[in-house]
Amino acid sequence: MTIEPLRLESTVNAASGGALEARYRERSLWLGGIEQPLMPRPSLPGDVNCDVAIVGGGFTGLWTAYYLKQHDPTLNVVLVEREIAGFGPSGRNGGWVMSGIAGTARAYGERPESDVMVRAARETQAAVDEVGRVVAAERIECAYRKSGAVTIATSEPQRSRLLRYASEHNDPDADDLTLPDGQLEQMVRIPGVLASSYNPHAARVNPARLARGLANACERHGVTIYERTAAREIAHGRVSCEGGMVRADTVLRATESYTTQLPGQRLRYLPLYSLMIATEPLSVGVWEELGWRDGLLVGDLHHLFFYAQRTSDGRIAIGGRGAPYRLREPISERNERSAVVAKRLVQTLRRNFPAAADAPITHHWGGPLAVPRDWSMSVTFHASSRVGWAGGYAGHGVGAANTAGRTLADLALDRDTDLVTLPWVGHASRRWEPEPLRFVASRAIVNILGRADQHEDATGRRSQLTRLVAPFMPPR
Ligand SMILES: Cc1cc2nc3c(=O)[nH]c(=O)nc-3n(C[C@H](O)[C@H](O)[C@H](O)COP(=O)(O)OP(=O)(O)OC[C@H]3O[C@@H](n4cnc5c(N)ncnc54)[C@H](O)[C@@H]3O)c2cc1C
Repeated sequence: MTIEPLRLESTVNAASGGALEARYRERSLWLGGIEQPLMPRPSLPGDVNCDVAIVGGGFTGLWTAYYLKQHDPTLNVVLVEREIAGFGPSGRNGGWVMSGIAGTARAYGERPESDVMVRAARETQAAVDEVGRVVAAERIECAYRKSGAVTIATSEPQRSRLLRYASEHNDPDADDLTLPDGQLEQMVRIPGVLASSYNPHAARVNPARLARGLANACERHGVTIYERTAAREIAHGRVSCEGGMVRADTVLRATESYTTQLPGQRLRYLPLYSLMIATEPLSVGVWEELGWRDGLLVGDLHHLFFYAQRTSDGRIAIGGRGAPYRLREPISERNERSAVVAKRLVQTLRRNFPAAADAPITHHWGGPLAVPRDWSMSVTFHASSRVGWAGGYAGHGVGAANTAGRTLADLALDRDTDLVTLPWVGHASRRWEPEPLRFVASRAIVNILGRADQHEDATGRRSQLTRLVAPFMPPR
């Protein structure tokens, strides 16, 4: 299998952009396709004072800034971003704005399981519509389309998992409703499907356009954004940056996987890479053959599952995990492409969408996910120090960051809302084991889950191998 050399959708204007802009555009199909120049906003000019300082210009930081200004337009909010808004996974992901969270009732403890998961489902279902509402209100052109998501099972073990997940919900409006025979084909035609489920609470977006549009909306509402401004240290009342100090009553960290690069935070998350490929735009005939409803998201239940979207410009963008963790450089641009993962994604594409089997692959990219030790997200705010943070979405942050941003804003403003009592508020996962144990664990997760998938595909029987990595997986 050969992957054609990366071909960027928009040509970089060397005179106005140069190497920096090229570097930003190469981070994903989506960033590459942004029509406007991708030049950084001005950096922090020196010391500044403000009411709220936010570190990180991805979805978490931007949504938090947005809602702070919605609730109190007089607040002086400053956001510092090391590169440009949307540079991280927020500008690179699969574009699934979906209900549900990374996290299990067991990890959140105490409350009855049903209550936790029903509240999680309800709040994150509402977030999918809330993203759509803001996108419309702020006129953010990000191809938002709420057509739902289907999950397919193509082996008996996957079918059992699909039925188990569906039965775990005792909420009549829950996600992941199993589809009766014949229904899937009306949304998308995929060979070899044994069972499928449908979650209506899911929307497709172009994530870089959403992140860039949201940053512009924040600025219109009075948020000050400094780009190419790296925070070195985040503490009570201040953020020390290259170029100066931001002094603030409230300091909020929204750096997800990159948090592990900050002092004292190395073992807070496992930075695990998710990678994607995209085809060139497909012809109308191919789309008719695929019968793929516009906006519908499609994924499966391999242990190393795939997630795919039909992009607004007619490509298939498909992603999955499995990139090896590097001990020396857990986060590095070198980790964003992998021949092994790209090959597996191409095979997945060909198997599930045969009408697109010959489509050239024009893009390959990826980014780091923040996986907490218990795989369960958190929104935390210490009222005494007025320092807070949100993250640990383990690859499910596009919708969850909206919920988290609204929650962080409410906590910082001391608003007494339903959001501030959600099960993940104040949740503290224990840290990962020190290296090289974290390295060994992450390599084992990727290798063993991959082998378990091969076994299940070949035999149709459940693999017991996954038990070997159960201690490192979400508690059930
Ligand atoms: C390939 C891929 C596909 C994915 N697909 C999906 C999907 O379809 N659906 C879904 O729900 N989730 C998906 N995810 C996960 C999702 O993208 C993330 O959970 C989400 O974007 C996290 O947003 P964030 O704002 O918390 O973090 P980020 O997007 O990582 O933003 C953090 C920002 O902080 C900045 N920063 C870091 N350090 C500093 C510092 N010291 N000073 C200043 N700024 C700093 C970074 O440059 C970055 O811009 C995917 C992720 C990847 C990589």
